[in-house]
Amino acid sequence: MIQLRRELCTYCGGCVSLCPSGALELAETNLVVDEGRCNDCGLCIPACPVGALLMEGEHSPSHARQKYDLVVVGAGPAGSIAGRLAAERGLAVLLLEKRQEIGSPVRCAEGINQSMLLPFLEPDDRWISARISKAQIVIADTGEARCLESDEVGYVLERRVFERVLAERAVEAGAEVMVKTAVEGLITGDGVVQGVSVSDGQSRVEIEAQVVIGADGVESRVGQRAGLKCVLPQKDCLVCAQFMLANVEVDPTCCHYYVGEELAPGGYGWIFPKDEAKANVGIGVQADLVTLPAAEYLRRFIAKYPFLEQGSPVTFMTGNVPVGVARGDIVGDGLMLIGDAARQADPLTGGGIANAMHAGRLAAEVAVEAVDRADNSKGFLEEYQRRWRQGRGRKMERNHRLKQRFSAAQRATPSFLRAFAVSAVGK
Ligand SMILES: Cc1cc2nc3c(=O)[nH]c(=O)nc-3n(C[C@H](O)[C@H](O)[C@H](O)COP(=O)(O)OP(=O)(O)OC[C@H]3O[C@@H](n4cnc5c(N)ncnc54)[C@H](O)[C@@H]3O)c2cc1C
Repeated sequence: MIQLRRELCTYCGGCVSLCPSGALELAETNLVVDEGRCNDCGLCIPACPVGALLMEGEHSPSHARQKYDLVVVGAGPAGSIAGRLAAERGLAVLLLEKRQEIGSPVRCAEGINQSMLLPFLEPDDRWISARISKAQIVIADTGEARCLESDEVGYVLERRVFERVLAERAVEAGAEVMVKTAVEGLITGDGVVQGVSVSDGQSRVEIEAQVVIGADGVESRVGQRAGLKCVLPQKDCLVCAQFMLANVEVDPTCCHYYVGEELAPGGYGWIFPKDEAKANVGIGVQADLVTLPAAEYLRRFIAKYPFLEQGSPVTFMTGNVPVGVARGDIVGDGLMLIGDAARQADPLTGGGIANAMHAGRLAAEVAVEAVDRADNSKGFLEEYQRRWRQGRGRKMERNHRLKQRFSAAQRATPSFLRAFAVSAVGK
């Protein structure tokens, strides 16, 4: 019987055309082997470029054990910045990413303020779709629109390229990157995280590190595996769906936010332009308040506005943003969590790219100090948690309290919208 090593499969579909019995099928990003049809001819095996297909019982050699100062799990904005800055300061860094293409598929509306971006990267047209100089909040029930002129320039990114560039910078600084490598577990000894384990498809490979940083996003398992409190309460989960719509007439310099209890319970709809005829049109809703899937709220949002309805989707994207704050520690012995894994996105807007990069910097600085002193104890790594909580984390705590104080029905009121606007456009 042909076996598929799913961790290795890059879903190119190359094997499908060689199968005489029709036992292989590529279902978007999922290769399906029909056991009933497979006749073990083995013709597909050499056609697989990554050795993901093999005959039952075959074995591949395992890798040697490896050792680094710092292992970073996840090459999103948080992980790539942490990896780059730690490598620039001389640490031996390994950045592990489970996806085969860093930055893809995109799970983001791609908006970011300039002042939050500049400390990390010079703006570059390769990964900027639109330059934003104003924003508008629309109250869906009344149609009232408020313009928020801002001195702050913002961008709508081409995030797929942006994220790859962040990872390339980490490589230039000396970090090693492995793609299509999912961390499956932590190596621990006496309760201290000492590394991670990954799978090469057949065998477990152990990678030792003095410090592990979990930058594994909203779906983070690293913290949970280390015993940290990471389960996200429903009320802190912003469930999102987004189309990129082509053939819509939009102002390419303006981001729009739509609020309304019925339109987007506990959240908001957005139109972020990619150019004058294309925009990310999405909606985020609070998981404990919804009666429908987010995608249905999105369809209703688009149907309400004829200028959106005339557009056609060219991409569809879903994803959740953690819009709470960490309920416990974001550090342990040998371990730090950053970005969405540490619940650091803005509770009001769900914007998390800038905070993730900022936390990546703080964690890299503390990791360097920890390796220098040969002290990876929780007591020492708490310095990162302290710097976060006394700095930007304080504002996130305040925004979280504010969100809790205003019920979903009150989130179109002027006082809530003022706070929202400050977070959205820095005004
Ligand atoms: C619909 C939507 C719209 C958004 N819009 C915006 C916006 O406009 N502006 C903004 O600032 N923020 C936005 N956000 C939030 C923003 O995308 C996140 O806050 C940000 O990506 C967090 O960065 P991160 O590096 O912490 O996590 P991620 O970007 O999620 O990166 C985590 C990485 O870890 C990898 N990974 C996970 N598990 C493993 C594992 N076991 N082994 C190896 N790798 C692993 C993942 O593949 C991923 O690449 C949006 C989010 C969503 C869902």
